[in-house]
Amino acid sequence: MQELQERTKTSVRVTEVFASIQGETSRTGLPTVFVRLTGCPLRCVWCDTEYAFHGGRSRDLDELIAEVAAHGLRHVCVTGGEPLAQKSCLQLLAALCDRGFSVSLETSGALDISGVDARVSRIVDLKAPGSGEADRNLWANLAHLRSDDELKIVLADEADYAWARACIVEHRLAERCPVLLSPVHGRLDPTALAEWIVRDRLPVRFQTQIHKILWLDARGR
Ligand code: SF4
Repeated sequence: MQELQERTKTSVRVTEVFASIQGETSRTGLPTVFVRLTGCPLRCVWCDTEYAFHGGRSRDLDELIAEVAAHGLRHVCVTGGEPLAQKSCLQLLAALCDRGFSVSLETSGALDISGVDARVSRIVDLKAPGSGEADRNLWANLAHLRSDDELKIVLADEADYAWARACIVEHRLAERCPVLLSPVHGRLDPTALAEWIVRDRLPVRFQTQIHKILWLDARGR
């Protein structure tokens, strides 16, 4: 009880809360509430959420969770920015799980995921060289992955694809959890990526960002 009271006094900085369709991962297509936390220590060159780097509003956890619940959806995705850059994100994730939500976390792969509540499905990026942030990959995270987590690699060009393919073999990524390969929207031809994956019989899941087909780059979608 005391732990619960401490959680509700905690705050997180939030850029936006909105209901949409999950556009990526194995949860693609599910109506989902997104909680976008503010701030990120990385600067991927193709980042599509730069508006989440700064600003936002400090929110008490109980007030924030009440807003999430008001959307009336079971699935919640905590994203960013880089959500784990805020220490209180761990408490938010646990509190959402306590409330019975099915929770996923989208994280850059640059920060330690080991403290995340075990009920959360973690979607962990591996940054390819074309992102400009490949040096930030925290390879120790691989040891913490479970079968209900997912690894996501966003690819800007064929050199990124070759890098991803080598990583999959070297680190036996597909034996750890599902591996998702995505093209950078508007930069790498999705058909080309799909054909490379089939050609190489790569044990991954191809994905594109469904929300960008539905709503282009509209914020809050
Ligand atoms: S980690 Fe995510 S939010 Fe941060 S710069 Fe890269 S793409 Fe943008």
